[in-house]
Amino acid sequence: VPIEPRQVFQTYEPAPGAHRWPAHCAACGAPWPDPPAGPACPRCGQRTFRNPFPAVSVIVADGPRFVLCRRRGGAFQGGAWCLPCGYIDHDEDFLSAARREVREEAGIAVAVRGVVSVVSNFFRPDLHSLVIVLLATPLNPAAPLRGGDDIEEAAWFDDPLALPPMAFEADTHIIARYFADTALGVPVDPRFAGGAPD
Ligand SMILES: [Zn+2]
Repeated sequence: VPIEPRQVFQTYEPAPGAHRWPAHCAACGAPWPDPPAGPACPRCGQRTFRNPFPAVSVIVADGPRFVLCRRRGGAFQGGAWCLPCGYIDHDEDFLSAARREVREEAGIAVAVRGVVSVVSNFFRPDLHSLVIVLLATPLNPAAPLRGGDDIEEAAWFDDPLALPPMAFEADTHIIARYFADTALGVPVDPRFAGGAPD
């Protein structure tokens, strides 16, 4: 059964004014007027931009099985499971970010194979992520998984329709959709995909 594409996930009803401005101007520290008159600070004129956080999420697949990570208590959505994921550092391309996050959260080296989707997550009025979803394969499928960073435990799963309690609705959809047709998506730049252990 084909699964309809979805790329926008919301966990709250957006309301007027819900996407708050910061309390103070980052440049001069002036309190931000409420309601705000616009994107420019009324004292120093510095413009403030509110943007989603760029992130990556990785389907690490080895044939029919895939990696999920259980988030540490105290982390956002702690105790629930998710695909290896995280924010892209400023000095980092998104393919290297994907390989780093899998290494940190699941303890294995992967090669990135394709871009399978891009997702907007509206988690909270002050937390909105834009997630590049990538497909990757382990360089050594026999390597043991080891949870790290904000992850308590990483494990292989093999039933995309019987997942443990999931932290993000997007992940549930992404996994079901990927395994319905295992499409590679957009091929990635091999210079950054990580074909060899680093
Ligand atoms: Zn200012």
